[in-house]
Amino acid sequence: MAGVSPGSGMTLIACPDCAAIQRMPSPPAKGWVECWRCGHVLERTAGRSVDVALACALATLLLLIPANFMSVMTVHLAGITSSTHLASGLVTAWRQGWPLLAIVMGLLGIVLPFVRFGLLAVTLGAIRFGVRDPWLGPAFRLCQKLDLWAMADVVLIGAGIGYGRVSSQIPVHIDVGGWCFVAAAVMTMVTRASLERRAIWRRLPGTDSEGGTIACTSCDLVLSRDAQGGRCPRCAAPVHWRHPFALMQCTALLLACWLIMPAAYGLPMSAFWKLGEAHPHTVIEGIAVLLHNGFWPFGVVLVIVSIGVPFAKLIILSWFLAAVRWRWSWWLRTRTRLYRIIDEIGRWSNLDPFTVMVFAPMIQFDSIAHFDVRSGSTFFLASVVLSMLATRVFDPRLMWDAAEAGDGVRDESKHVPAEEVS
Ligand SMILES: [Zn+2]
Ligand SMILES: [Zn+2]
Repeated sequence: MAGVSPGSGMTLIACPDCAAIQRMPSPPAKGWVECWRCGHVLERTAGRSVDVALACALATLLLLIPANFMSVMTVHLAGITSSTHLASGLVTAWRQGWPLLAIVMGLLGIVLPFVRFGLLAVTLGAIRFGVRDPWLGPAFRLCQKLDLWAMADVVLIGAGIGYGRVSSQIPVHIDVGGWCFVAAAVMTMVTRASLERRAIWRRLPGTDSEGGTIACTSCDLVLSRDAQGGRCPRCAAPVHWRHPFALMQCTALLLACWLIMPAAYGLPMSAFWKLGEAHPHTVIEGIAVLLHNGFWPFGVVLVIVSIGVPFAKLIILSWFLAAVRWRWSWWLRTRTRLYRIIDEIGRWSNLDPFTVMVFAPMIQFDSIAHFDVRSGSTFFLASVVLSMLATRVFDPRLMWDAAEAGDGVRDESKHVPAEEVS
């Protein structure tokens, strides 16, 4: 770990996790820069090339077209051939009486990846060619927001698990659309890794206010106290000292999650009909079948993302709410890091519903064998989406405020430089 090198250009930054306002080298020379107070990574030197990010976003967008419009997999059983598209699972869910499930999965798995990568390609393209129009800030802010909800990568792993489940019983052929989808989903992950958001914000017009005390939580611009209640001049996000109603909204969403949990885990997600006999599976029974059939890597992944992560998330968020309520100051850095982790990995809990989405349309052989979507899928998806929203509306800065008000964790941040790690 090295100190900030003297003479480098310094910029003000407000940490989005703990609210500490500090100076950091702009751009950092190498490695990454951490918040001195909570350890949040403020900027990495990797992923600063707009050209690379633009190329990745364009490649992903182009690959998504054949992935969504061409057949992804074909199965043959008893002389019947069945080809599926990515949207086939949505049609199956809709026809079987689960329109809400079909709409939400269609948004997360198909519509939002297109919107995100289309908008990202346009925004990065404009920045690359020197455009500095006011719409770029709000457009890039929307791209950042959609990063959580555009789930082509989650659908890919779900499809892999679905493929593993079906191919053990019936031969499955992956079509051109399927391979394009694999490439698109991998490019989604590469784009996430190759894009350092701070490097993009730095290219957009916006000046930090010297002596500012509040910050935009979308682009981290430091603003004077009068900006409260207005819009950020760079990205047009509403500016608040702290997110209003964060605790109330988080508590309400968490309560809804706890209430849905028994239905999400107790009701069957799907039922497999073989020779007129139904075999319904809850989340846990589905995992047991995978483990029993020897697909233990998939089984272990699902144990972690479908059982471990959702429960851990609800318990951790409940703990954070209690910490703010009773002004606990212990483990502040750990709690802040935990918050980042649950915010990042929460989307992977959608794996199981996406497995059903890919799996269901492949097995539709009338009386020989077919696959029904059941009510557990809707409840499970609802619990995951609500818990993702609960994590997003929680403002981790409230934990630092509460600790400061409790037993005096001092914020001496203005004069302390961020830490440069090489
Ligand atoms: Zn911080
Ligand atoms: Zn902003």
